[in-house]
Amino acid sequence: MTLIVQKYGGTSVGTPERIGAVADRVINYCRRGHQVVVVVSAMSGETDRLLGLAQQITASPDPREQDMLLATGEQVTIALLTMALQQRGQAARSYTGPQVPIRTDSAYSKARIAAIDADRVRADLTAGHVVVVAGFQGVDEHGHITTLGRGGSDTTAVALATALQADECQIFTDVDGVYTTDPRVVSEARRLARITFEEMLEMASLGSKVLQIRAVEFAGKYNIPLRVLSSFTEGEGTLITYEEDHAVEHALITGIAFNRDETQLTILGVEDRPGVASAILGPIAEANIDVDMIVQNSAHDGTTDFTFTVQRNDYKAALEIVRAIGVRLGAREVKGDDKIVKISLVGVGMRTHAGIASRMFATLAREGINIRMISTSEIKISVVVDQKYLELGVRVLHEAFGLEQEAA
Ligand code: ADP
Ligand code: ASP
Ligand code: MG
Repeated sequence: MTLIVQKYGGTSVGTPERIGAVADRVINYCRRGHQVVVVVSAMSGETDRLLGLAQQITASPDPREQDMLLATGEQVTIALLTMALQQRGQAARSYTGPQVPIRTDSAYSKARIAAIDADRVRADLTAGHVVVVAGFQGVDEHGHITTLGRGGSDTTAVALATALQADECQIFTDVDGVYTTDPRVVSEARRLARITFEEMLEMASLGSKVLQIRAVEFAGKYNIPLRVLSSFTEGEGTLITYEEDHAVEHALITGIAFNRDETQLTILGVEDRPGVASAILGPIAEANIDVDMIVQNSAHDGTTDFTFTVQRNDYKAALEIVRAIGVRLGAREVKGDDKIVKISLVGVGMRTHAGIASRMFATLAREGINIRMISTSEIKISVVVDQKYLELGVRVLHEAFGLEQEAA
């Protein structure tokens, strides 16, 4: 008998009919002799709806109360799914995160899982129950409800799979696997049968929201077999694995990720002397704002321009800080731009092949797409371009690196 943890995302439990279909699928696995723990998200749109309600009360909700509010979304779906299972004759029981308990730190809205006490879940499984657990939530050491960040149900599933030493963690969603790029943007995108943890981690951290980055980190660290599958169709999905797929050994690029969540800040014409970078980035770090890309270029006249990117929700705060620094440093100008996008090529094949960057830049140049920033690491190359070029840029790169569907 194997133990499987399955996670169903918001679209998969978006209506009572779909919840019924999830119950049928879960029962199918039980009939084949598996023990099943199910993690569910809130019904699609519900978390955003709750956030909207809070905004109608106050522009800056208390973080504890916001988590209290958001955690209700998942509580609805665990109860409904458990009822659907019971109605079909399957013994089942639901738990909220705090009831399991899933213990986290106290960082509201982005809490990290510290430990899971899985005894209760294990006892129910042994008694023949399907156990249904609310994703995205936990409880801190003082008993306060916390949430794990958007997309956090993926992480709940992987963490539970680790705690239970499950044989596999299956993430059921509205696409039938991980694709070479978001299939909503490039219709020719191709499903990958396998992808390495290392590549999936890059894809997730560079903006592919098919899996929450912490879930991939967790699964990689504890070597939990992780699979992304469709909740609407049958199929093998995509296996996230340690082994590189030798059949595609010669693929230079595995996938293309993009991130609409970045914004750019620039200080122009400050005196080029030691300490400038820290004078600019110090106050940004003090305000707890994460910086992603950084570029500095010096002019012949002894001045320098300094550009960096931050997440969209930090943009306003960062711009205010940079304006103040600009005045202090006597900058010629301070600029902000929130109409940018980062496009990244990812692939372990890059390690052993030169010329990927030049092919990327030439492909973008042919379309008249100006590159504003570049950053590289061992298995990725990222560029920042104007937001209006997102679809075009991803599509031409997808084609240039031969990632599209093989002709039938
Ligand atoms: P869920 O609600 O099930 O957690 P998400 O919306 O979080 O679903 O994730 C699935 C979505 O991820 C897909 O609908 C797809 O648009 C998007 N996505 C982005 N990049 C990729 C990719 N490389 N492969 C597959 N899906 C991707
Ligand atoms: N409901 C939460 C969200 O919308 C968590 C999740 O779906 O994974 O982000
Ligand atoms: Mg998700």
